[in-house]
Amino acid sequence: MRVPPVAGPRLTVLAGPTAVGKGTVSAYLRQHYPKVWLSVSVTTRAPRPGEVDGLHYHFISDAEFDELVAGDELLEWATVHQRARYGTPRRPVERALAQGHAALLEIDLQGARQVRRSMPDALFVFLAPPSWDELVRRLLGRGTEDAEERARRLATAREELAAEPEFDITIVNDSVERACAELVAHLGLAAAGPDLSDC
Ligand code: 5GP
Repeated sequence: MRVPPVAGPRLTVLAGPTAVGKGTVSAYLRQHYPKVWLSVSVTTRAPRPGEVDGLHYHFISDAEFDELVAGDELLEWATVHQRARYGTPRRPVERALAQGHAALLEIDLQGARQVRRSMPDALFVFLAPPSWDELVRRLLGRGTEDAEERARRLATAREELAAEPEFDITIVNDSVERACAELVAHLGLAAAGPDLSDC
């Protein structure tokens, strides 16, 4: 296991199987750990009820996404669940790190692999479910996808679970508070002094 020492603010990549609760972890961090700078991804999927453009995602068109890719504006991007495209705008991440913030990307496995290649010094964290049964329960319990979509996501989840050894550390999402506390302990927040309002 390769765990870089915590020398100050750094980039952390959080990935894990679908429905493991990455979004819940992000939301909890946003609310309870305001010193953590969270990347806001672009996506071509439609907003779900309650999602706010610019806060949860930047919801953009296919043409806009193509432009960002062509302009090399994305640090990584991927087509997720064979449906929509998601990507991390490069410049805000570079700016946050340059300003000394602990920055976190919550992305899928394909994206994590791309960041591993371009920013190998980042910390790669795998968010794991307490068990496979619990993951299935969370996936079906959410009730926001149809049967075909759920089957597609389960297939993706199996592949994603097998990728755990590629990551530096694993955090089990048994409770969001506990998982976030463990994650934050790894983020390099100690030296992350500046206020996020200047970011
Ligand atoms: P959802 O549509 O449920 O919000 O997210 C679906 C998947 O897309 C999740 O696994 C999430 O981690 C992933 N995702 C969100 N933003 C990005 C991104 O910027 N890049 C990549 N590669 N995946 C992302």
